[in-house]
Order: sequence, then C-alpha cells, then structure tokens
Amino acid sequence: MRTAVGLVVCLLLAGLPTAAAQYDPARTHAWPGEPIDNHVHLTWASLTLDVNNWAEDHPDVVSLTSAGTSELGKTLWVVRLSDWSMDTKPNGSAKEIVYIDGGHHGNEYLGTALAYLTAKTYINGWNAGDAAIVETLQNTELHILIMLNPDGNDIDTRWNINQVDLNRNYDHYWNTCPTTQPGSSAFSESETASNSAYMNTHVTDADLYVTMHTGVWIMLYPWGKWPEQPPDWELFHFIRDDVHEQVSPIPIQNANQGLYPNCGTSRDYGYGVMGFPTFTFETDDEQFVPGSFEALEDRLGEEMDVMHYLIENVWFWRARLSVDALEVSEDRILATVHNLGHASTANATLQHLDEEGNVRWTSPLFNVNATNSTTLTFEANPTWIDPDGHWNLNYQKRVINAATWVNETVDGERVLLVESEEAGLLLGTGLFHPMTSLLGVVLIGWARGRRKDIIV
Ligand SMILES: [Zn+2]
Repeated sequence: MRTAVGLVVCLLLAGLPTAAAQYDPARTHAWPGEPIDNHVHLTWASLTLDVNNWAEDHPDVVSLTSAGTSELGKTLWVVRLSDWSMDTKPNGSAKEIVYIDGGHHGNEYLGTALAYLTAKTYINGWNAGDAAIVETLQNTELHILIMLNPDGNDIDTRWNINQVDLNRNYDHYWNTCPTTQPGSSAFSESETASNSAYMNTHVTDADLYVTMHTGVWIMLYPWGKWPEQPPDWELFHFIRDDVHEQVSPIPIQNANQGLYPNCGTSRDYGYGVMGFPTFTFETDDEQFVPGSFEALEDRLGEEMDVMHYLIENVWFWRARLSVDALEVSEDRILATVHNLGHASTANATLQHLDEEGNVRWTSPLFNVNATNSTTLTFEANPTWIDPDGHWNLNYQKRVINAATWVNETVDGERVLLVESEEAGLLLGTGLFHPMTSLLGVVLIGWARGRRKDIIV
C-alpha cells in the first residue's frame, strides 16, 4: 500500500503544506517502533514490550491476555482495559463490551497504529484522571487485539505467512465471491481461528466491533457480501449522520458499495454471525511521509475523535427497550414501549409470571423500531393476573438471525400500583373493578448516567 508515496513526495516538492510535523520527543505518543524501509513500523517485538509494560505498570486498568498465536507462534496480544476494581458498572449492571482488532493485513501500518493508539489513549487518559475516559472505563470493557498478523507485519506484506488474506478467511459466506487468497477453508489460519475463538469466548455479547485497516479513508459497515443495506440499517445510518454532524466528514458506507464486493471478512462475520454492530475503519493510505516524524495522536487525531464517539456512546448501539407504561384493565393491556437505542428489534414479547414463576400469559410478538416508541394493546383476562407475580420483557438486541436475546424482569421495586378512583377492590382481592384498574410499571431508563423516570 505504497501508492501514496509519490503523491506525498510531489506535495513536498511543490512546497505545499503537509501534515508532517517536527519530531518532538516530549510528546506522549511518538510513533511506536523504529524507522524501517522509509516508514515507521510497529514491530511485534516492540509491541510485545509495550503491552507487557502497560500491564505491569497499570494493573488497575490494563489486563493483558492472548487470543492465541500466529502461524509462526507469535502471541496475539489482547489489551483489556476497564476499571478492574469493579466487575460491573457503578449502578450494578453489566459493563458494555467493545472489541477492536488491528493489523489483519501486515502492510497496513496506520490501521494497526490506530488500534495501538486507542489502547494508549485510554491508558493515558485513565492515568491522567480524564473524567470522560474514567467514566467510560467504569462502564465499559475495551478488548483490543492490536496486531492480528504479526508474521505478515514482520515482512511487510498483506498476507499471513501462508500467503492467505486473513480478511477473506472468516466463516461467513467464505469463498463465495470473486476474492483474493481466502485460504483452504474458513478459519484455516491460526490467526483467524484465534480471533473468532476470542470473539466466541470472551466478547460474545460485544456492543461494538471495530476492525482497523488502511487504504481509503472510509468507515464501512456490513455487508461486504451483498449490496443491500443490512437489517440494522437504521443504526448505521444514524451513526453516519451523527458522525458527520458532530465529529468528522469521513465517508461511511456499506462495504459492498463503498469499497467493493467481498466475502469471508471479519466485518461480515462479526455482524452476521456474532451479532456485533460492526465497522471496518480504514485510515487513509498516506502512511509513509519520507524523512518526517509526526506524533501519532496528531496523525490520527480525527480518527480518534470518531473512536471516542463510538466508544462513549456504545450503550445506544443496539436495541434498548424500556416499558414506559403498562396499564392493565379488565379486558386489555396497554403497553407503551420505548426503544432508547438506535437498533430496531423484532420478536419481542411481554410476559406475566405468577409468584411461583409460571408463565401465565405471553403477548403476541411485536417489533419496535430504532429510537421509537410504540403503544401496544393486548386482550387481557383478569383470571391469569397474579398480584404477587411479575412481568418480563424479552427481546432481541438486533434483528439479524444471530441476534442474542435480552430477558429482563421488570424490577418489583419499580412497580407502582395505582388504585383507580372508583375501585377499592384492586389487585389484592384478585378481582378487577369493572371500570378500570391500573397497574403502573415504572421503569427507569438508564442511559449513560442520565436517569429518565417515567411514571404512569
Ligand atoms: Zn486491510
């Protein structure tokens, strides 16, 4: 990927301003690694030293592990960042999970550097007490596999040591399109097999997956395989529009249309099989600026702004249903369900369970579009209401086949029983007043520290 060298040299000769800045050793993020072959190269050896130092120096926030090894036996380091003093968020709920990998292609240095810089930025921010980063790491786990293809990186090539394109070797419509060297079978290579094993073992329910490359300055969402928009197009279009409005004009398109048709990629696997909201983040190709040095945080500053945006808002990157109101009367149930997230969901149900946990009633399936509110009416029969029972909400995080399920119990402490003005004989008697009875359910929609109390 050195096509940009000529262009850069031309710019230099023309005396035009360039992005290159003077090297300042005092900067916190100097280029990692050593100058090799006219560009600065993050070697697996220097990466190994760095990640081990990070883990040793900052055990409160860095947990180092490995996803496996490359074909030549090099460790595939995964830097895990979070506030490890707490297993959960401060409010007791599970932390969001972000999965990042870099360096599928060994000659795409800036993509690998962006993964490296993401890790370094969050470590430095934590140590500096940066409020936004501390809050993010209290609520989120970042799992960053910085260099997936160390053998290819060592010899500055796109392929792994077996001449396989790792980003065509995943088990999602593997080798079903005109493609580069996809390997002998899906996951034939230890790098891709290790990466998918890590996804399936440690970040199964990740709420964001970003895989980092270098080529054309663009962010690509699924699919590569098909030109059609993916089922969660509302999510990807929202992020596209919001990034353009707030952060960066970087193009954001589905991969098939934005780049070229491809299959067996980690992006399509991450979305289509794992159910992750997924992006391929391509930095631009001007990765070699001869004779110049530039601080990494300056070179990739805009890309990091986008990464901060994606990570800090990760809670919204899937469906987040909240039952705002549940009104139960003699012959009907009126439910107002709000989707606080930006992904649609399908196949949702509401259930009523008695005190022993037996399901007394299950609603028909319903859908809630992204960032939308829906009011549903169901027929009811008071004979199955157990005043000591509870309500469950079940829904898929996303609508693709791989989407995982959320099964949430409506917190009993948040159930508000409101007696109607006309009826004293409410739920305690097991009977309903012929006019109205009201069971109010108060859910607290929790969104990144903001509490939204809705009372019927
Ligand atoms: Zn690539």
